[in-house]
Amino acid sequence: MMAALGRKKIPRYAAPMALELEEREMRRMGERALERILEHLRSLPEQPLHAVTGGKKLARSLREPLPERGVPFDRLMNTLFGRVIPHSLNTASPGYLAYIPGGGLFQAALADFIALATNRYSTVWLAAPGLVQLEENVVQWFCEVLGLPTGAGGLLTSGGSMANLIALVAARRDRLPPDFLSGVLYTSSQAHHSVAKAAAFAGFPGERVRSLPVDGLFRLDLAALEAAVTEDRAAGLQPFCVVGNAGTTNTGAVDDLQGLARISERERLWLHVDAAYGGFFAMTARGRARVSGIERADSVTLDPHKGLFLPYGTGCLLVRERASLRRAHAMGAAYMPPMQTDDDLVDFCELGPELSREARGLRVWLPLKMHGARTFRDALDEKLDLAQAAAARIRALPYVELIAEPELSLFAFRVRPPGETDERRLEELNRAVLVAVNDRQRVLLTGARVEGRFLIRVCVLSFRTHQDRLDACVEDVRAAVASVVGQEGT
Ligand SMILES: *Cc1c(COP(=O)(O)O)cnc(C)c1O
Repeated sequence: MMAALGRKKIPRYAAPMALELEEREMRRMGERALERILEHLRSLPEQPLHAVTGGKKLARSLREPLPERGVPFDRLMNTLFGRVIPHSLNTASPGYLAYIPGGGLFQAALADFIALATNRYSTVWLAAPGLVQLEENVVQWFCEVLGLPTGAGGLLTSGGSMANLIALVAARRDRLPPDFLSGVLYTSSQAHHSVAKAAAFAGFPGERVRSLPVDGLFRLDLAALEAAVTEDRAAGLQPFCVVGNAGTTNTGAVDDLQGLARISERERLWLHVDAAYGGFFAMTARGRARVSGIERADSVTLDPHKGLFLPYGTGCLLVRERASLRRAHAMGAAYMPPMQTDDDLVDFCELGPELSREARGLRVWLPLKMHGARTFRDALDEKLDLAQAAAARIRALPYVELIAEPELSLFAFRVRPPGETDERRLEELNRAVLVAVNDRQRVLLTGARVEGRFLIRVCVLSFRTHQDRLDACVEDVRAAVASVVGQEGT
């Protein structure tokens, strides 16, 4: 039967171009797309770091009604690679030291191509046991990297924000009664805004989220946490969760995770660690030491699209006890296939809010299998070295103060001419320095207002970033400071 079906001639419809492509056509399209991609990647280091002026004009010029007729593939490639893609922040550039760099490994893109072209259903174990297992392997490797115990598990998400959301819902379901509005969640003033957003999505009003002060190293103040918990209990509220940071977005600060774990255990708080930026440094010896205590967390957010250099759209949530995720998120339906009951098998749809989704595990699995963990460890070690050395050189520049040392691969500084104490003036000055650095188009830096001070951040996290770019960075900061402060003096 099957063989006969394979040999049967497929009827051709009189449509202008059938949705079912001929193999020759698929091959040609693939080759064309690959050529354009390689051309793009070849010129990537020389492309401007930011090319978004005129963005509104571009966006408006691209508007059009639903096209009734088709357009040839090659013309569409011209539009994409000629007009659309170049007009961007060059997030994949080796010079991109802004926000949290991504990178986007080609290997992972190819894995996605395979995943999407074969289009298996990997959210339910029964539908693709092999693909589900490969994705589960990835999750277990991550648990191992962090030192989580047997029974730990989790799932890949679209990003860190989604991981934080799934974690807070799990924490709420695990620690609070169905009527949970007396529950209180703690985090620091330096937490990523996705934590407050996740709390809101999980149903908590803003006043149930305590944003606690930080110490001189921008780490959550443990004494303030203890005091707040005591005070809230006395007021009849129910402290249930604390969110610590393993690498803040502002300055890269790593909270005292051992201290947080100690308090969490004593106070029966769910400890969630947001390690979206810093988590994968645990693959290195120095990074592992920095995030010590993360292995005691109830849940951890990781972002492979940051620290594993993968393309955007790859986050991860790990939990100490996989069953806790299942209790929070599993839900049956008459039309669904049976879910697995063996402890060692997983249906990802039972661990989070998503049902249908791409087989996103492949884009993590393929690069890790191809290169092995050591290649990633070495790359991450290089980022630690680069940030350390660059921070030392920038601190030595005149008028520069290093406000946040690189605990991992992110540091922050500002320019302060002698005697200048007015924060508004200092912000203006530092914004001018930032513009002058970025105008040179060799690196892209961003700033952040932290505890009343405007800081310039340098975040080294792309697999493409090497010593030459950090040299350019230091040189461009030096020149920018000289020109901005020089003008000030006259
Ligand atoms: C990037 C980041 C997030 C948000 O992750 P997305 O993948 O952008 O959704 C959350 N927390 C921290 C610390 C981050 O750096």
